[in-house]
Amino acid sequence: MTAQIEIVPYDGMNKGFLSQIQTWVKNVLEKADPSSTPPYLRLTIWKNIKALQEFYDQEKEDLGIVTGEESDFLATHEAWRDYPRIHICHERVKGVQDAVIEGVLHHEIGHALFHGSMEFYTFKFTGRLKEAARFNGFDLHLLQKCVYFLSIAIKDWEVIQWLTKIGLGPCQKSLLEYMMKDTEEEQEAWGVAKHSPVMKKIAMAAFLKIILPIEAMILIRSEDALKLKNQWKEAYSWLSVMEQDGLLRLSQRIMEFGESRFQEKLENAAYGLIEESF
Ligand SMILES: [Zn+2]
Repeated sequence: MTAQIEIVPYDGMNKGFLSQIQTWVKNVLEKADPSSTPPYLRLTIWKNIKALQEFYDQEKEDLGIVTGEESDFLATHEAWRDYPRIHICHERVKGVQDAVIEGVLHHEIGHALFHGSMEFYTFKFTGRLKEAARFNGFDLHLLQKCVYFLSIAIKDWEVIQWLTKIGLGPCQKSLLEYMMKDTEEEQEAWGVAKHSPVMKKIAMAAFLKIILPIEAMILIRSEDALKLKNQWKEAYSWLSVMEQDGLLRLSQRIMEFGESRFQEKLENAAYGLIEESF
């Protein structure tokens, strides 16, 4: 049985956009392994950012949720009601290339299929990891920040690698290119973080979100992945060569745990980050 997806459009939504979304969703769901797909998921298309924000605020209030969800820029996913829900906002994607919108839908569906349970949103900090972190200047709060960013990068790596393997890599490339178009905010954050060894590593963990999936695409010999890596070097040219190399080394180290379970990947990545000298 393939996953049942309910697509909920907003009132008065144009039929053309709806049928495009239906096609894009079908393209990925028909390739998913039925044994690992949830029985039901829902995709809601919101008219504008205001409507989406109101929904989020209300849900957070009703369910007593304080912290945010993993929020990708163009679409989001959560499982607060015990089944995966994906949200896309029409206003937010206006003017964005079709391949990017298709990519972001595939991407969020990938998260819904693979990361729909609590295991992917909680992490057990072992005594050994906490000790190693403390030794390198990270208290538990800072270590949690690192692990949060690392978990996002690892989940993106898993989703993008899977989509690439089933032949949907081109849209993920478009999505990654889109994300690399503007790194100004990251550059600003880096300007502040680079003066502290600990903050620097937290920023590095956040930057992994793009380079780790690119390195994974190269590993499985995806076409044009090397080109994507050059684009990355260009987009992050405000990092020194040494810092870029540090990120590449860390990505390689994380990928060595490709066959492990999520929690092991995450723990290994945390050691790698803490111990890496950028
Ligand atoms: Zn993601």
